[in-house]
Amino acid sequence: KITVLGSLNADTIMHIDRLPKQGETMAMYDATTAPGGKGANQAIAAARMNAATTFVGAVGNDQNGQMMLDAMKADNVDITNIKTHAEIGTGSAFIMLEKDGSNTILIHGGANQSLSVADVQSAEDAIINCDVLVAQFETPLEVTLKAFEMAKQNGVFTILNPAPAKTDIQPELLGLTDLIVPNETEAETISGIAVTDEASMEANARKFRELGVQNLIITVGARGAYYSTVNGAGFVPAFKVNAIDTTAAGDTFIGTLASQLELNLSNIGDAVKFSNRASSITVQGAGALPSIPKLAQVQAAIEK
Ligand code: ADP
Repeated sequence: KITVLGSLNADTIMHIDRLPKQGETMAMYDATTAPGGKGANQAIAAARMNAATTFVGAVGNDQNGQMMLDAMKADNVDITNIKTHAEIGTGSAFIMLEKDGSNTILIHGGANQSLSVADVQSAEDAIINCDVLVAQFETPLEVTLKAFEMAKQNGVFTILNPAPAKTDIQPELLGLTDLIVPNETEAETISGIAVTDEASMEANARKFRELGVQNLIITVGARGAYYSTVNGAGFVPAFKVNAIDTTAAGDTFIGTLASQLELNLSNIGDAVKFSNRASSITVQGAGALPSIPKLAQVQAAIEK
């Protein structure tokens, strides 16, 4: 059983030729809104791997909130612990997607930022009666800290995806994290060590241990992922595919990993390989949710 504590965002993708200049009014040639947010993407990835998945989060009492709840329900994610805030709107991300594929993103936390310690306490059952608790940084840090405290007191395995990168993380939070999964930038933001070659990844693992996290996976995009855990270390190359849109690659990796992990990390190499495979399918499709694969697709791809 997996519980994801995190963000639910309505993503509005604005298709434009180029970024407008200051003071300029410009037409876009298309705008579409779709379900997204790191928390939501990760929960849906886990659920598509057939893991029983529960979500703890918040939406607003609006159309986007309903869209998010519908998306979660469609993938069998338990939404009992998603609060609907009466006054604050659902979180949103505005993605300016230029013709050349580059993107510039503005995020409004909205209801995600209204999530409170009291909400986590009301969701106690979901937080302490699961095998794995997953969180990111799109909801308030003190709320994640409380959830991780409750989880660890009850023997739940905690996974922290420290994204988007933040510098003001409480040291206690790292001490309560069983496995941290940053990308290159997020790893460097916390450790101060740039991720380049494998030696730099090992140096990161040592630094994270000093900071109180025993197990680390760094995802390095098209290169793959590095792991260093109490059960050994290694580098698992990514699958070579024709990537067209890397949105939700990291989220697919995290959700899949949570669903595949033996909690003693005895299968860590295989779990990382499986997660690389799942993410390699995500990057071949456009958008966030539509491209996150189901279990059978990942298995079929592995057998090829
Ligand atoms: P994030 O999206 O959080 O920055 P990464 O870019 O590190 O995360 O990607 C996460 C995982 O997705 C990688 O470890 C890899 O398995 C897979 N991936 C990302 N980009 C590609 C790509 N171009 N080709 C194949 N796999 C990819």
